[in-house]
Amino acid sequence: MKKIQMVDLQGQYQGIKNEVNDSIAEILDSSAFINGPHVHAFQKELEGYLGVKHVIPCANGTDALQICMMGLGLQPGDEVITADFTFAATVEVIALLNLTPVLVDVEPDTFNIDVKAVERAITPKTKAIVPVHLFGQCANMDALMDLAKKHDLYVIEDNAQAIGATYTSADGKKQKAGTIGHVASTSFFPSKNLGCYGDGGAIFTNDDELAHTLRGMVNHGMYTRYYHDVVGVNSRLDSIQAAVLRAKLPKLDTYNKRRWEAASKYSKAFQGQEHIVAPKIVCGCDDGQNVCDCHVFHQYTLKILNGKRDGLVQHLNDNNVPCGVYYPVPLHKQKAYADTRYNEADFPVTNQLVNEVISLPMHTELDDEQIQFITDLVIDFVNR
Ligand SMILES: *Cc1c(COP(=O)(O)O)cnc(C)c1O
Repeated sequence: MKKIQMVDLQGQYQGIKNEVNDSIAEILDSSAFINGPHVHAFQKELEGYLGVKHVIPCANGTDALQICMMGLGLQPGDEVITADFTFAATVEVIALLNLTPVLVDVEPDTFNIDVKAVERAITPKTKAIVPVHLFGQCANMDALMDLAKKHDLYVIEDNAQAIGATYTSADGKKQKAGTIGHVASTSFFPSKNLGCYGDGGAIFTNDDELAHTLRGMVNHGMYTRYYHDVVGVNSRLDSIQAAVLRAKLPKLDTYNKRRWEAASKYSKAFQGQEHIVAPKIVCGCDDGQNVCDCHVFHQYTLKILNGKRDGLVQHLNDNNVPCGVYYPVPLHKQKAYADTRYNEADFPVTNQLVNEVISLPMHTELDDEQIQFITDLVIDFVNR
């Protein structure tokens, strides 16, 4: 059996090696390292893939989120509601901009932001909601957009984990994750579903005026060379990363399909296990027959009940199977973000999830033998 990896970037690279190497060699020959033709071409290709009017490439997903908030003109003291159960980047940029983060609980089955908790957290100072499409599946965007409209709030999608996912509204309308809110950010960190070979990120919006503002903001607030109209940042996607992304973008749907297939095999093996809760697929396509893009499985995350999670992590490690606990500490309990404003009773779900979740190896190169080996180990351990 091939060695099991949490993410197998090497195996995936073999399939696009010639194209990537040729593009990189061409960039080296041309020396167009910054804002070369690959960056613009990637922008256009991603706009076409997503069906969104504007893609603004930038240096990473954390910058993308920060620049979204700057572009919307959020001001110190404005409250921004986001999920307590996500990667820290989401809340970090809120704090960095001297906005007030308001962390709320998530749903126990999808791990996504709980819309009722969002509603309870809205005050006259609230300006924006940041749903994170955690692990590859969209938050409840219908309800969030309704709530935002009612209270005149911005919705900023953190789409770092769900690029390529499709969200279907109650009326049947289908939209790509990251094109539903007012603006969205994504990350091209190597392990993301669409990853480059270094750091990269992008912002998406259908708002022409906002797109113009953002394009200057990523480049020192310049709209005309050496005229600085607003305070900006230096956040660019470089040409080499854009070339890697151009090689991968046409394969993104295939990559996501392979993730779905691996996830289906995992879930089928775990069916009927009393100590294991497999990921919930909201769109209801998980009958074992369909391949669907409603969930792109950035992570395949189980809940392990009855206090067996930590033992399972140890057992998998002992058997050379990598796994992850995303996330081990809810944000409201992190030293940097803890605050007397928070009340433990408001976080029953995140406080429990941190003890139950475990993410299994998930990437485009998993084979049946590896999946069988992993599921056998998990099932054997939890039934001891
Ligand atoms: C990866 C990630 C980010 C940050 O992306 P970087 O490119 O690493 O800065 C932000 N939010 C979430 C939910 C992520 O998973």
